[in-house]
Amino acid sequence: MKIHEYQAKDLFAEAGIPVPPGEVATTPVEAFEIAERINRPVMVKSQVHVGGRGKAGGVKYAENPEAAKVLAANILGMDIKGLKVQKVLVTAAEDIISESYVGIVLDRASKKPVFMVSPAGGVDIEEVAAKTPEKIFKLEIDPVRGLQPYQARNLAYKLYRDINQVRQCASILMKLYEVFWKVDASLVEINPLITNPSSQVVAIDAKVNIDDNALYRQKDVEALRDLDAENPAEIAARDGDLSYVPLDGHIGCMVNGAGLAMATMDLVKRYGGDPANFLDIGGSSNPQKVVTALNIITSDTKVRSILINIFGGITRCDDVAKGIVTALEELKPTIPIVVRLTGTNADQAKKILAKYKLPHENTLDDVVKKAIEMARVEI
Ligand code: GDP
Ligand code: MG
Repeated sequence: MKIHEYQAKDLFAEAGIPVPPGEVATTPVEAFEIAERINRPVMVKSQVHVGGRGKAGGVKYAENPEAAKVLAANILGMDIKGLKVQKVLVTAAEDIISESYVGIVLDRASKKPVFMVSPAGGVDIEEVAAKTPEKIFKLEIDPVRGLQPYQARNLAYKLYRDINQVRQCASILMKLYEVFWKVDASLVEINPLITNPSSQVVAIDAKVNIDDNALYRQKDVEALRDLDAENPAEIAARDGDLSYVPLDGHIGCMVNGAGLAMATMDLVKRYGGDPANFLDIGGSSNPQKVVTALNIITSDTKVRSILINIFGGITRCDDVAKGIVTALEELKPTIPIVVRLTGTNADQAKKILAKYKLPHENTLDDVVKKAIEMARVEI
């Protein structure tokens, strides 16, 4: 689960991490009033669940309350990477001397929280990782002992030379680890962690993702969920009990089983295509899930062909076929669909689908190639 920057900053502030004062606004007038209260230049920052808001024009500097009002009017309602801005954070602007990156991710490979810090902050950390990996420092944390003060200082020395800043940073890292642990985060990130002209180290951005599996014991955190800000497809998938991850490609994939879904996506890539999503309808045979899944896939405007790959074990192919028929009748998709239904009751499934004349392939390779070919055709 993702939360907004302003909510993450509240968690940081509670833990004692320095963040500039700020409040959230949903109207330009509110933004004006907050800027007046802050009584110095502010940043007006779109609150959406994606990174790179700055580059997308969703983070702006306002000299005075009047400017904050105008900027809020521009930014509210803006579309950033498919998400509509409904709130802005109006927060005191800092003068920036240096920008660093600090973050903690839960690393499944080492089964430990891993700190990552870099003096190359402010930009996309993925870009730093790709171009100048030597500028990222990593440290695995023993989850039983937690982050030790000497480890925090060692990390801080990778970012700062001034002892006063090293101390501030080490203290921030300790507190950041506390937040990470306390809320069952899968990721916490400050990008950038800045120094200002008074030599203070301050978090001017904040990102906290929560491990969904821990929400049952994180009721306070779960209450921060902002359904309006979530991708409607992801909400539909969660409600329909489907595992769905939207991606950037053109080939919509509907598969049963996470492993088969991953294998399908790998093959799509291998044969030169790009998956539009990961979507696992799970092991059950509920036709309604198929309808929900196809509804989600067809509402993604990037999708140019749909690949349905079902290996029937517990899942019965005839049930999936019934779901496909209902979806075809209800949604009348114009996007070409290719199916591979194999395993339990595959023959019945083929009979059910016969009159719809959907192309059918028997092997995984063939169905993937066909989906890629269909996506290339102009529609
Ligand atoms: P992101 O683009 O979604 O990561 O949003 P950020 O909060 O990181 O803001 C993007 C960029 O805007 C930062 O990297 C800074 O360069 C700039 N920025 C944000 N807040 C301030 C501020 O208070 N003062 C100054 N001078 N720049 C800021
Ligand atoms: Mg940032």
